[in-house]
Order: sequence, then C-alpha cells, then structure tokens
Amino acid sequence: MTFPIDTAVTLLRKEVAGYKVPVVDLIAAQTKDPFKVLVATMLSARTKDEVTATAARRLFAQAENAESLAQLSITEIEKLIYPVGFFRNKAKYLTALPTALVQNFGGQVPDTVEELIQLPGVGRKTANLVVAIAFQKSAICVDTHVHRIMNIWGYVQTKTPLATEMALRAKLPEQYWISINSLLVAFGQGTCKPRFPHCDRCVLADFCPRIGITPRKVPRKQETQAAVLRCVSWNVNGLRAILGKGFLDAFHQLDADIFALQEIKALPEQLPEEVRNIPGWQAFWYPAKKKGYSGVAVFSRKEPLQVIYGLGHEDFDQEGRVLTLKFADFYFVAAYFPNAQDGLRRIDYKLAFNQAMLAHLNRLAAEKTVLLCGDLNVAHKEIDLARPKDNVGNPGFSNEERASMEAILQAGYVDTFRLFHPEPDRYSWWSYRTAARKRNVGWRIDYFLVNTKSQHRVQAAEIHDTIMGSDHCPVSIEFV
Ligand code: SF4
Repeated sequence: MTFPIDTAVTLLRKEVAGYKVPVVDLIAAQTKDPFKVLVATMLSARTKDEVTATAARRLFAQAENAESLAQLSITEIEKLIYPVGFFRNKAKYLTALPTALVQNFGGQVPDTVEELIQLPGVGRKTANLVVAIAFQKSAICVDTHVHRIMNIWGYVQTKTPLATEMALRAKLPEQYWISINSLLVAFGQGTCKPRFPHCDRCVLADFCPRIGITPRKVPRKQETQAAVLRCVSWNVNGLRAILGKGFLDAFHQLDADIFALQEIKALPEQLPEEVRNIPGWQAFWYPAKKKGYSGVAVFSRKEPLQVIYGLGHEDFDQEGRVLTLKFADFYFVAAYFPNAQDGLRRIDYKLAFNQAMLAHLNRLAAEKTVLLCGDLNVAHKEIDLARPKDNVGNPGFSNEERASMEAILQAGYVDTFRLFHPEPDRYSWWSYRTAARKRNVGWRIDYFLVNTKSQHRVQAAEIHDTIMGSDHCPVSIEFV
C-alpha cells in the first residue's frame, strides 16, 4: 500500500500544533534575520532547544551580526555558548564565519544549499534548514527524525539522511518541503520516539506499516497509571561502559517514572546525546570532581519542585554521591554510599557519610515522605548475602557497617524489599570474579528505604536480576 502522505501531514499538523515550537523556527519568526537563523542552527546541533535558546540569547546580546561576531575571541565565544554540545568546535566555526561570509559572499548569508555548505561547520542539514526557515525557499532538511520516520512509513527505503533527502526531492510534494523537518522533529520527540515509539496513542496508527520498530509496552492501566509511580535504582558501574551493553533498552523496558543511577563515572558532556537527553525524562547530573569516579544521576518524568545537590559537606559532595529531588508530597533521595574498602581503610569516611545522610533524611522526613534509594554498599543481615560466614568483617559486611545500617532503620526507616520478600537468595550485586553471578553468589546492597510512617505508600518492591550490563542489577518499587 502506498503511504498516504497528504493524510499523514494533515493529521500531524493538528497533532503537533500544541507542541513547543523548535527554537530555530522561533528565532526565524522573531528576528527574520538569516544571520541569526544560521548561527542558531549551528548552535542547535546535538543540543536541547532550551540550551540553544539561552546560548543564542547570550551570544546575540554581544554579536548581533557578522561584524560584531568578528570582534569576539574564540574564548569569549566558548564562554557565551557553553554548554551547547561540542561548544569548542562550534566556537571555532563561529570565529571563522565572519571572514568566510565577507570573503565569499559580500558579508551576506547566502540563500542556496551549495553556497551555505562552503561556510565553516555548515553541513547539508544546517544549510537546508537555513534555506527553508530563513529564506522560505524550497529545501528539505533531513534531520535524523525525518530519515527514521520516512523509513518507518515505507515512504522511502534509504540508508542515510542524504539518500533520504534525494529520495524526498524526487517524491515529496513540494508544498511540504519547508515544513516537513519541523513537523517530524516535533513528532519524533513527542510520539514516534527513536526507541519504543508510542504507537498506542499515535494518530497515524491505523495506516502506519511500522517498519522495523518495536512499539513501547502499553502503559499501566488507566485507573492506576495516574497514581502509581515506578521508581528504579541501578548502579551501572560506568555509564559509558554500559551504553554498549543495552542500557537504553533496559532503561525503556523498566519504564520508570524516576530512574536513579549510581557510579556514572562520567561528566554529562562525555556522554552521547541519546543518554544525556532521553526524550520524556528530565535528567539531573551530579558527577564527582575526580574524573571517571563515582557520580550519580536521576532521570525523572515528573518535574521536581527543587533539586538539592549533595549533603552540604565538601568531603562527601566532591565525590558526587547524593541527589535529592523534591516533589509535592515526597522527597526522592538518590545516593551512592561509600565503599569501606579493603582492610576497612575507608570505614571512618563511610560511617561519617552514613551519619550525615541520616541527618539529611531526618530533616526531610520532618516535612514529608522520604524515599532513599541507591547502592548502600552494605548487606544488612545474613540473609542479604550468599556467604555470610566467609565475609564477617569484610567491607560491606563488617559489624560497624551493619550496625550503622541498623541505626538508620531504627531511626524510622524501612527496607522496602523485605516488606514483600522474606525469601533468601535475592541479590543485587555479584563480584565479576569467579563467575559469581552465574552461581548466584551475590549480595543485596542496593535498596529502597522509606520513612516508616509512609511505608503504606509502597505497593511493591523488586530486584531485576535478569537485567545485565553491570555487576549490579536494577532494583525498583511501586509507590503511590
Ligand atoms: S504508528 Fe508508531 S511507528 Fe508509526 S508513526 Fe505512529 S508512533 Fe511511529
């Protein structure tokens, strides 16, 4: 069957009318200035729209045209546009842009793709977008969403964005050329997402052939969906490492409303865009100062009222260990507790951290429900590890650490997993050595705690030990 492109475009125009206008379109409408559209388009590559908008505002306040841009040094431009993706490269291109415009185009932004691609840092995608948006001339910008969705529809069968552009030039009615990119970017971000598209609520569901995609699992039942929050915690032992081991698939399969990560071992700018900005979630990052070490992050579908970074103790905070998200009726604390280390050489640091954490929890619990999740780096009771006798006094099962965990619980907190699972042999961490995971010789050191008064709000708790990729597996709760 031929894909009904006219019907699809008509339906999508209505569908995305309420979505946010892409920042480059907004700048074009507000300024009608090809220079600003060109610069904003260059800034927007691999960058969230809100970040592009702020960076563009700062830059245009200092450089509203090519002449004033030429007066800025590369360091000044870097500072003004930070933190857009690849800001150093973009600053380099922007520094060279005024000269290229003057030497080749009399200081004006050209209006053809062939001319625009001669400018530093301008590829076909940017050039097409500038021609279409700034000059309202026929051009087809093929963003990754356009390439992907056109192939899902079977409207083109192509391997690269360039091949898609050429196929669309031959096939797509010209009246859609200018607007198709904005339309499909908005639709690709909101509904036909790159992973697990939301076919269950798509206006094109009746006739889309869904080529090569796996739709998302239909969300939980309507009557419980609004009330139940699924919260997941996972020590990923290096976010860059786990990305190649199916992290994003697991992330989507777990379908969490709030997803906490520990040991990210990376700065956000060291991560690819697909994990820095997962459509549908807001991400909050708290990396350690030391490179490649510790660090936590939280992805949340719900917008928090406030985010608190750290515990207010420099000693602990420089290791990026605690993020607290405040919501209307609960606090969500995501933490990576210190490891006591071989010979318990860091036990004092760990016990001091536990005390500071307890004081933090108590302050929050005086106000509203508190959830604490993360790698607590301790097996509380003998049932929480496979070989308790062999590990007495070892880091993670020393008397001091177990007593400290007990003190936290005695202060008014509950280990939610044990509310639902009294059984043994349930673990969340296995040593990489000696094939421990295969033999289930593990430890349960990843927890969700809740303040005792609010334990009735936790409806389920799970350990997802079939999910691989790290030496820990995810743990979760359902919370109302
Ligand atoms: S039905 Fe699914 S695959 Fe097709 S356009 Fe809609 S969201 Fe995308």
